[in-house]
Amino acid sequence: MSILNSGIWEASPLYKNAVLQLEEAGRVMKLDPNVLERLKRPKRALIVSVPIRLDDGAVAVFEGYRVQHNMTLGPGKGGIRYHQDVSLSEVAGLAMLMTFKCSLVGLPLGGAKGGICVDPTRLSRLEKQSLTRRYTSEINMIIGPDKDIPAPDIGTDAQTMAWMMDTFSQEQGYAIPGVVTGKPLDLGGSHGRAESTGRGVVYTIIETAKHLGFDIDENTTVAVHGFGKVGSVAAEEMALLGAKVVAVSDVDGGIYNRNGFNMKALLAYYQKNRRLAGFPESEPITNDELLALKVDILIPAAIDGVIHSKNVAKVKAKVIAEGANGPINADAHKALVERGVFIIPDILSNAGGVIVSYFEWVQGMQNFFWSEAEVNEKLKSIIVNAFHRVVDGMHRHKTNDMKTAALIAGVDRLNRAMLLRGLFP
Ligand code: NAD
Repeated sequence: MSILNSGIWEASPLYKNAVLQLEEAGRVMKLDPNVLERLKRPKRALIVSVPIRLDDGAVAVFEGYRVQHNMTLGPGKGGIRYHQDVSLSEVAGLAMLMTFKCSLVGLPLGGAKGGICVDPTRLSRLEKQSLTRRYTSEINMIIGPDKDIPAPDIGTDAQTMAWMMDTFSQEQGYAIPGVVTGKPLDLGGSHGRAESTGRGVVYTIIETAKHLGFDIDENTTVAVHGFGKVGSVAAEEMALLGAKVVAVSDVDGGIYNRNGFNMKALLAYYQKNRRLAGFPESEPITNDELLALKVDILIPAAIDGVIHSKNVAKVKAKVIAEGANGPINADAHKALVERGVFIIPDILSNAGGVIVSYFEWVQGMQNFFWSEAEVNEKLKSIIVNAFHRVVDGMHRHKTNDMKTAALIAGVDRLNRAMLLRGLFP
């Protein structure tokens, strides 16, 4: 029985999907119903108004959120999203995914997420800085290196984290780099953090290939939906492995080349022009067409809900690595699993970001920094280990659904910790 009595949490498809998937995992693992009910709702949510002065002198007010879903295992951890579709419910759903992700990969961290309902592409640099500083100030009572540690997500980056760190530090009176991760290297960021999510996606694809018994070589075709911080790195790493990246896209549409792109040239072109259209030796393709390409590996790395009941029948990829959070709706996911598509679930596939965020936090606390090779090696070891635990769980629970198995692994650790800590008071 659902006890989400106010309905506010359930307003977004992402939250509803996360709960449906949690319920399915709970059913298979016979989860304590009291723990299940607690996990269906976030622990705490803060809604803030963020007024800023625009460059033309007018004042605009944006709505911001920080949601802490569960902090049983440690401080909250999760990105800050600037996007026009951000809502309290969506942020809560993303915070819930963070809880299960951190637990699955064995981090001493809980799940949180934040965001502002804003189209950041319409703001100047100064306006973005004002927005970030005021938002940080409004949520400062619930964040901190021991409480809840934000990081970048859609529409935010290392510069955003630098402004957040500075604002928080100014208000406390001394430098507190540990309040955020994904910082620039010069402020205590970690080597390899920027690439970590895309790299982690590719590590899980390599394990999938071994598990399913295929080689990744020049005959392996890949399509990447979303060419941002996650998608562009995943595309680059797949090309470095020798695979043929035949299609990539961003919010404005995509490009296709059946022989595979010269990835170095494509990255340089995108860096210079900030668009994919017009890249030599490519033809335009829509985002819908890209998702329906007959490729070996599809990496949806943009936003949630892009594969749903209306387009799932057209999806032809054999393996889907969820670079984004929640890119496949629950019903589409079920249909794909029934068709034998191997889906590497978001809480596993894109966990590289939070794993290296954790490394950044640890390095910062020790004031002792590691080389990029060390970071990558440790990242690989954690994510590969988690992959095999999920595959083992799939066999143990007699399911061919990696998502349910991953959730079970995440929820299982959390369940034990919650029962040990008990219910306060
Ligand atoms: P980003 O803002 O750097 O990139 C997003 C990309 O998606 C851009 O290329 C954008 O043009 C494209 N896009 C946006 N809307 C689109 C649409 N409707 N159709 C097609 N393309 C669209 O964001 P990011 O950090 O790369 O995050 C992408 C996804 O990965 C998000 O779901 C995010 O939550 C998830 N994620 C990110 C990290 C991280 O470390 N950055 C970690 C884990 C998960």
